[in-house]
Amino acid sequence: MRFSLVLVAVAALTEAAEADSDGTIVALKARRLYDGKSDRVVSPGVVLVKDGKILAAGDRVTIPAEARVIELGDATLLPGLMDAHTHLSFEATNDWAADELASLKKEPTERALEASRFARATLEAGFTTVRDLGSSDAIDVGLRNAIARGIVSGPRMLIATRAISARGGHCDPTEGYRQGLLKEPGIDQGVADGPDQMRAVVRFNAKYGADVIKVCASGGVLSQTDKVDSAQLTQAELAAVADEAHALGKRVAAHAHGSEAAKRAVRAGIDSIEHGSFLDDEALDLMRAKGTYLVYTPVPCIVDRLDRGNAPDAVKQKAKAATGAMEATLKRALAKGVKIAFGSDAAVCPHGSQGGQFALLAKAGMKPLAALRTAMSVDAQLLGVADKLGTLEAGKIADVIAVAGDPSIDLAAMTTVMFVMKDGAIQHQLAPPRPQAQPPTPPSSDRACKVFDRLPSGACPKRGQLDI
Ligand SMILES: [Zn+2]
Repeated sequence: MRFSLVLVAVAALTEAAEADSDGTIVALKARRLYDGKSDRVVSPGVVLVKDGKILAAGDRVTIPAEARVIELGDATLLPGLMDAHTHLSFEATNDWAADELASLKKEPTERALEASRFARATLEAGFTTVRDLGSSDAIDVGLRNAIARGIVSGPRMLIATRAISARGGHCDPTEGYRQGLLKEPGIDQGVADGPDQMRAVVRFNAKYGADVIKVCASGGVLSQTDKVDSAQLTQAELAAVADEAHALGKRVAAHAHGSEAAKRAVRAGIDSIEHGSFLDDEALDLMRAKGTYLVYTPVPCIVDRLDRGNAPDAVKQKAKAATGAMEATLKRALAKGVKIAFGSDAAVCPHGSQGGQFALLAKAGMKPLAALRTAMSVDAQLLGVADKLGTLEAGKIADVIAVAGDPSIDLAAMTTVMFVMKDGAIQHQLAPPRPQAQPPTPPSSDRACKVFDRLPSGACPKRGQLDI
C-alpha cells in the first residue's frame, strides 16, 4: 500500500502539466459554451487561450490562423468549477472504526501522499479551485503549495488550516476520546475559550498559512458527544473571530447546522454558513438581509456509508436528521432569495464525485444554469476571486473544462468531465464524444454491459476506455 502511494506521487509529479508560455494561441472548440454567469448557452463555443489567460470566449470568436486548435466535438465548454467546501486531507471509508484508528496511527506524510490522490481526482472532476475548510498537521498547507508549484496535480486551493472550535465542540480534535489519552488541545489545534483566545487562534492560523478562517459555530454530524444543532460559541466569541479575520483581510466560513448558531454567526458578520440543515425563517431572513451565502452540502452518500460502516447510533441518527432536513431548508432559502454557493464537504463522500451535486440543486428547484452558476460565478464571489476566475471572459485565468452533451438540458453531464485546463495547461482529456447522428454503441442493455468482459472487444464502453 505504501509503495503504491509512492508510485502515485511519482506519477503525479511527472504528469503535472505546464501551460504554453511561448505566446502560442490555443483555440478550444466545442458545439456549445456557457460563460458561467449569463442565462444562456451559446453555440458554437470557442475559447482562445494565450499564456495561461483567456484571450476571448463566446460564439463569435474568430480563430487566428496560427492557433493550435483542440476540437472537443459534441461538448459544452464551461469555466473551471469551484467547490467552496472540501477536505482534501482525507476521505472516509465504509468502516467507521478503521477510520478512527487510522487517524491516530497514520503518519502525516502518508496522509499527505493520499491527499495528492484526492487532489487529482478533484481536478479530473473539473474542479480547478477549492476552498479547503479544515485539515490537520498542515497537510493542506503542503498540498496547496505543492500544487501551486506544479509538483503535484490538483485544484488551486484556498485553505483554512485548522477549523476553530469550542472546547469539546464539533471541531475539537480530541472530542470523543477519554480525558488524558490525548494532549488537551489549545489554539495550536484550533480550540479556544473566550473572545481573546478566538482572536489568538485566528492570528495563529493566519501566521501558519490560512487563506480563509473556518469556525465551527454549531454541533455536527460526525462528532460523538454533541447535539448536531447546538450553539457552541457565544455571540462575543463569533464576533471576535469575524472581526479579527476581516481585519487580516480573510473571509470566514461558519459550520452551522442549527438556527441559533447560524444567527449568531450571521450577526457576527461571517461570510458563509456551511451546511445550514435546520435553518429557520428568521435565520434565512437575516442571511438574505446581510448577503450571507449558504453553502449547501447534501452529502448524498453519508447515511448509507455510516450504516454500512457501523458508526455509533447517535451519529447515524444525526446524519439522517440533518440530511433529511436539508432539501426543505434549501427550498425555503431559494424562495427568500438567499445566495446559494456550491460546496460538497468532499471527504465525507468521495473526492471527485461532487459533480453529481448539480442535479440535487435542480431537484430542490434551481434551474440548471442557476445550479451551474453556484460552482462558477457565485463561488468565485464567495471566495473573493471573481476578478480572476469563475467565468469564461477575456482577461481571466484560463481554467476551462468541457463536458459531453448539454448540461443545461441534462445535469448528469456534469458527472463526466472530458477536458480540464487549469492556468492554460491541459490536465485531463478524454476522446471527444461520438457525433449524435451515429447510433449508440451496442449492446444497449445494462445486463449485457455488466458482462462486457466476455463480449468482443469494443462491444461495450469500458470505464477508462476513452483515455488518450
Ligand atoms: Zn466540512
